[in-house]
Amino acid sequence: MFDAQVYAPLFEPVRLGPVTAKNRFYQVPHCTGLGHVRPRAEAALRGMKAEGGWGVVSTQETEIHPTSDLSPYAEGRLWDARDVPALRLMTDAVHEHGALAAIQLVHNGNHATNLLSRAPVLAPSDMSISTAQPKQGRAMDKADIRALRQWHRDAALRAKEAGFDIVYVYAGHGMTLAQHFLLPHMNSRSDEYGGSLENRVRLTRELLEDTRDAVGDTCAIALRFAIDEMQGPDGMQAAEEGRAVVELLADLPDIWDVNVSDWSNDSATTRFQPQDGYQNEYLSFVKQTTNKPVVGVGRLTSPDMMVSMLRKGIVDLIGAARPSIADPFIPRKIEEGRIDEIRECIGCNICAASDALGVPIRCTQNPTMGEEWRRGWHPEYISPRKRAVETLVVGSGPAGLECALQLARRGYEVTLAEADPEFGGRVLRESRLPGLAAWSRVADYRLNELRQRANVQMFTNSALDAAQVAELGIPHVFLATGSSWRSDGLGRSTRRRPPQIKPSAKVFTPDDIMSGVVPDGPVMVYDDDHIYLAGVIAEKLALAGRKVVFVTPESLVSCFSVNTLEQYRIQARLIELDIDIRCNQVLHMVGDHEATVACGFSARQSEMDCASAVLVTERHRNTTLFGALRGTGLETLELVGDAAAPGLIADAVFAGHRAARDFERPKSEAEQDWFRREITDLREDAI
Ligand code: ADP
Ligand code: SF4
Repeated sequence: MFDAQVYAPLFEPVRLGPVTAKNRFYQVPHCTGLGHVRPRAEAALRGMKAEGGWGVVSTQETEIHPTSDLSPYAEGRLWDARDVPALRLMTDAVHEHGALAAIQLVHNGNHATNLLSRAPVLAPSDMSISTAQPKQGRAMDKADIRALRQWHRDAALRAKEAGFDIVYVYAGHGMTLAQHFLLPHMNSRSDEYGGSLENRVRLTRELLEDTRDAVGDTCAIALRFAIDEMQGPDGMQAAEEGRAVVELLADLPDIWDVNVSDWSNDSATTRFQPQDGYQNEYLSFVKQTTNKPVVGVGRLTSPDMMVSMLRKGIVDLIGAARPSIADPFIPRKIEEGRIDEIRECIGCNICAASDALGVPIRCTQNPTMGEEWRRGWHPEYISPRKRAVETLVVGSGPAGLECALQLARRGYEVTLAEADPEFGGRVLRESRLPGLAAWSRVADYRLNELRQRANVQMFTNSALDAAQVAELGIPHVFLATGSSWRSDGLGRSTRRRPPQIKPSAKVFTPDDIMSGVVPDGPVMVYDDDHIYLAGVIAEKLALAGRKVVFVTPESLVSCFSVNTLEQYRIQARLIELDIDIRCNQVLHMVGDHEATVACGFSARQSEMDCASAVLVTERHRNTTLFGALRGTGLETLELVGDAAAPGLIADAVFAGHRAARDFERPKSEAEQDWFRREITDLREDAI
């Protein structure tokens, strides 16, 4: 039974310097891939969070000067007054729903590449920039430091003009000059900005004082600070200098926004950090050290955990980036007693990958994220049906479940048929692999919603053929029949020269492993897919006691997972499990007891012992039913998700959502209107 009193503390207002947040829900700064490049989309996304009930809604990091140029990434930008109107779009959208707007000002120091501005890179000391590029930053002299303080101050004034209520000084994620000055391994200065901690903290202190002096009369000043670099004694630790920094600056900021560094630790995936609230152990001392409100994060999706964190005095404000992406309406759902409707983040970091790839944010759980402006999608509302017609969805993977749910929300009669004994398709299968348990949340959320709807009928153990579909007499059919991993080893690396697979060789696919097969060792796992699956399969087989050789044509294990901030953890785990990793090797031959691979550069071949092989290359689309139903006179027949184009779970959810939204929409309209674009204004006076 929902007891509003239990959650009432979450809805208490909190005084933050000169402003007051209406509740304790605080969307901390997070990237969107929209930023200064797509300001209307950015404003609509943040406005949606405010509509969803967050008391504070923040921008992403916002560059203060051309010497902090993060191009080609689409972060915020406040280089001069011409950037103000774009940001005012955001503050207006946030204020419309009674939330406070926060801006995370940043100078990225040697994390900036300055590829657009071609400005020299600034750093506490002479050193290479932090990304692998042939470029060095120069040690800032006193004039540089004075200039930096002026830029930050000017940006704060512009932020105030743009309507922000909270202005950040940012010393976190290993990405900012203020933090670089704090860290002894980056700061080897011998002047008053280097050496002792008091000296290293001087720049952060000055930026806080400058910001307060400039805008503190109307704006709260927040400090985002990484209290632990998670490098043990090789970096800042919460128990030592992290705590000392909080003590030194105790009541100087109006808000302490604390987390761990770097970004991959702060936004840890569930595979490597399954526990929600995983930062609590690092945060808990902060509130005892300052009188100012503290906000903390850690993939906080459970309202009970939020309340317990308040009661235990760990934080004053519940910080969230990813949980607010997966469900921008968490606060409203809690307030309205709709806790079981919360769409929980699964910790997959596809959102982070969008930023890394320089494209608008996308989310596995929330297909409307990033589409608020360009497609006009709202996570809570969808247009009602035009006609009272019946629909059939075949397949209950992420695409089928999302399609069925959105059709049901539009008011159609929905029949969902699944061949397997359980609903969930690939998310169910994959969630049983090591570290991927949270994947099942994709199915759990949708099944919970579907089961409560009177207009939905759901059937398992129902593998439909064309005759059975005809018998049902439902004229509108969506086929989310998924895909199956191929076993011939064909993939992007082997297309020109397909591997020779001996007919008697023991070759398996990910589908076999997910259905419980444990091949004999030594087993070769060949990865031409490059995200998580091959690595997870290798892990599972190693844990089952098999000797595993992991072969990839790329130079890194699971190379796409660089974008989900997991790559080095995946490779480290495989090494810890004594898996023999062979990079830059293309599959050539699989025999009964051996396999041959060829170096991707020299074509030099090598042989390895191999009793069995798992080939993670490509998938075949499951289109048999589609083929059989084509031309049978159905009013609607549409392939959705992996059956239409195999991809990420996020792609399948998006496809299911889109199919349901576009149903009964005139084809011409749906085809012409892919999405709205923000096009550069070419008028002379727009420069
Ligand atoms: P997607 O990622 O596109 O949602 P999945 O592979 O996760 O695809 O799910 C496809 C689901 O469709 C699987 O659970 C599979 O059992 C089911 N399915 C495939 N063909 C049929 C069919 N003819 N009748 C009913 N269910 C089917
Ligand atoms: Fe969470 Fe994944 Fe969505 Fe990011 S993409 S918010 S990690 S569910």
